[in-house]
Amino acid sequence: THFGFQSVPKEEKEHKVYEVFENVASRYDLMNDVMSGGVHRLWKDHFMRQLSPMPGTKLIDVAGGTGDIAFRFLQYVGSQPSSHPQLQSQGGDEFDIKMPREVEAQAMLDVGKQKAREQGITSGMSWVQGNAENLPFPDCSFDAYTIAFGIRNCTDVQRVVDEAYRVLKRGGRFMCLEFSQVTNPVLRSVYDSYSFQVIPVMGQVIAKDWKSYQYLVESIRQFPDQEEFADMIRSSGFRMVTYENLTFGVAAIHSGFKL
Ligand code: SAM
Repeated sequence: THFGFQSVPKEEKEHKVYEVFENVASRYDLMNDVMSGGVHRLWKDHFMRQLSPMPGTKLIDVAGGTGDIAFRFLQYVGSQPSSHPQLQSQGGDEFDIKMPREVEAQAMLDVGKQKAREQGITSGMSWVQGNAENLPFPDCSFDAYTIAFGIRNCTDVQRVVDEAYRVLKRGGRFMCLEFSQVTNPVLRSVYDSYSFQVIPVMGQVIAKDWKSYQYLVESIRQFPDQEEFADMIRSSGFRMVTYENLTFGVAAIHSGFKL
């Protein structure tokens, strides 16, 4: 009973991905906490510290989902001493976040917007629906591009990175946080048992949705390893491409610059 994502046509895969996030949206944040034991929060915090954006940075956070990266960005930038004191009092107004979503599950978007309301964020953020493979923005628009746990869901990964390159300004930075490959064989077998046997069961029990979580596990296994993905980033034209493993390679942060 494989989900068979690799063998289906592009539109069909996109539709299935859409359905997955439509189904999990209301429990998405909770499931992230439960399945990772809260570790995804630490990964995302670290990811934002690695980016260390300055006030005024124009960020595009693609596949933004319920907004975890965007909220961290606003918080990080807001906590930095501004080099333009006259802008400081404007709060979030000087920041412009775009969060394109493909056929983004409306439910994911609603959860994110609700979170923004709860945090009292009324400006500095725009929620834009789009496709990571075909972003609705002109060339050279952003200082930074982030994508967290999103690129794995896209049909044409190379095209997504090409698009990132296109919308970034010269000097702009691409940063991707994504599940990756655990290389240590012992840890890998532990991780494999956990993910293949435990994750779908937890998905069934907590979200009443075995298939979406089986898809999650399969899509992680099918994603290129650290080196392969770094090569794809270089192929798009990025320079100074590096990566950092998180938790033994369960996840990795890839970075590159458009020079
Ligand atoms: N970045 C968030 C986080 O780290 O929690 C959400 C990640 S969630 C696993 C993946 C998101 O990517 C979903 O909200 C989904 O709707 C969106 N998505 C899937 N395919 C996409 C595509 N081709 N273009 C843009 N967004 C896409």
